[in-house]
Amino acid sequence: MTEYFQNRSGIFDNERVLNESYTPDDLPERENELTQLGHALSPALNGAPPKNAFLTGKTGQGKTAASRFILNQFRERAEEVDDLDLTTIFQTCAGHSSSYQLACDLVEQQTGQNPNGHPKRKVFDQLYEALQKIGGTVILVLDEVDNIGDDDLLLYELPRARDNGHIKDMDVSVIGISNDASFTDNLSPKVKDSLCEENIEFSPYDANQLRPILERRAEKAFVDGTVSDSAIRLCAAYAAQDKGSARQAINYLYKAGELAVEHDDDQVIEEHVQEAEEIVERKNITQSIRNLTIQDHLALLAIVSIETDGETPVRTRNVYSVYTDIANAVGADTLAMRRVRNHLQELDMIGVINGAKRTGGSRGGQHYYWELDTDLQMTVDVLSEIDRLNDIVDQVY
Ligand code: ADP
Ligand code: MG
Repeated sequence: MTEYFQNRSGIFDNERVLNESYTPDDLPERENELTQLGHALSPALNGAPPKNAFLTGKTGQGKTAASRFILNQFRERAEEVDDLDLTTIFQTCAGHSSSYQLACDLVEQQTGQNPNGHPKRKVFDQLYEALQKIGGTVILVLDEVDNIGDDDLLLYELPRARDNGHIKDMDVSVIGISNDASFTDNLSPKVKDSLCEENIEFSPYDANQLRPILERRAEKAFVDGTVSDSAIRLCAAYAAQDKGSARQAINYLYKAGELAVEHDDDQVIEEHVQEAEEIVERKNITQSIRNLTIQDHLALLAIVSIETDGETPVRTRNVYSVYTDIANAVGADTLAMRRVRNHLQELDMIGVINGAKRTGGSRGGQHYYWELDTDLQMTVDVLSEIDRLNDIVDQVY
C-alpha cells in the first residue's frame, strides 16, 4: 500500500517552535532595543504613565517577538508593584485599513460586539468606554499599524485620551510597530510627536547574529545532532546576504529539515539548505508579487526592465519614464510620478525592490535610488505568469 504520511520524528523533535506563532524566550541580539522599550514602560512601575513608543524595521527583524517578550516580562514585573493594575492588549492591524476598522475591532475584543456601521465618533467613544472599564494602566500594542494608512486619527487620539477627558484616572500607552519606515514620515507632525516619544529602530541582522538565533531554535526544534553546523551557517549566510531577516533564516532551516525528511536523510546538510533557499524564495516572490495591484506590477516591471539593462540603482524620475511606456503598452492608466513613487515604496516595504536615499544628479540633491531586491530570473518568471503582463514581460526581458 502507498504510504501517504511521513515519519518526521527522525529529524524534528519539536517542529512547532519553527512556526511563526512561537515567541522565543530569549532575544539576546535585541538587548538594546528591549532595554529602550523597557525604559519607555518603566514610569508605570513608579506611578506615572508609561511612554508611547514606536518600533520600525523591515520584516523579520524581531519587532513582534521583542514586543511580545517585553510585555511578558513587564507583566511579571508589574505583579511585584502593589498599586500597579496593568493590562496589556496585543492587536495586529493586518487587514485593518483605517482607524475606524481598528477601533471597531478593539471594541469587539473588549465587549464582544462589533460596532461596525455606527458613526466614527460613537465607535471611538465605545472604545474609550471599554478602556475606562479596564482602568489602571493599559498598554496597547498595535502591530503592523502601517496598514491603517493615512487614516491615523486613532493614533492621534489615543495618546491624548486622558488629556482630552475621554478617559479619567487611568493611563493608556501605545506601542506602535511598523514594517514600513516611511509610515512615520507620512504621519502628521502632531501624531508623530506623541506616538513616537521613543523611536526604536530594528536594523537587519548580520550572519553573526543569525547563527546563534538559528542555533537556539534548532536545539529545540530538531533531534540532537541532526543539523550540521555548516547547514546553520549557510542558512545564516543566505539570509544575511539578502534581507537580514530572522524569519527568512528560520524558514530556510525549516524547509531544509523537511527536505531531509523527504530524501530520507538522517542529517540536515548544506545541499538541503541550497535547495530550501531556492524553494522558499520562489514561493515568497510568487506570494508577494501575485497579490499586488496592476499599478504595482507596472512599477515593478519598469524596475525589472532597467535592471535587465544593468542600469540600476535608478532614480524615480527615470523609473517613471519606463513606467509610462509600459503602462501605455498594456493600455493601463498612467499615474502621476508622485503616485508611482508610492507604489515603489510599497514594493520596497514587501522586499521586492530596495530604495535608498542618496546624493546624486548634477545638482547633488538627495534622491531615492531603486533596484530589484529579488532574483531577476525568478521575478520575471512570476510576472510572466500574470495574464495581463505576459506579452509585455517578453518584450522587456
Ligand atoms: P518582525 O515582527 O520584525 O517582522 P518577528 O518578530 O516576527 O519579526 O521575527 C521573525 C521570526 O524570527 C520569528 O519567528 C521570531 O521569533 C524570530 N526572531 C527574530 N529575532 C529573534 C531573536 N533575536 N532571537 C530569536 N528569534 C528571533
Ligand atoms: Mg511582525
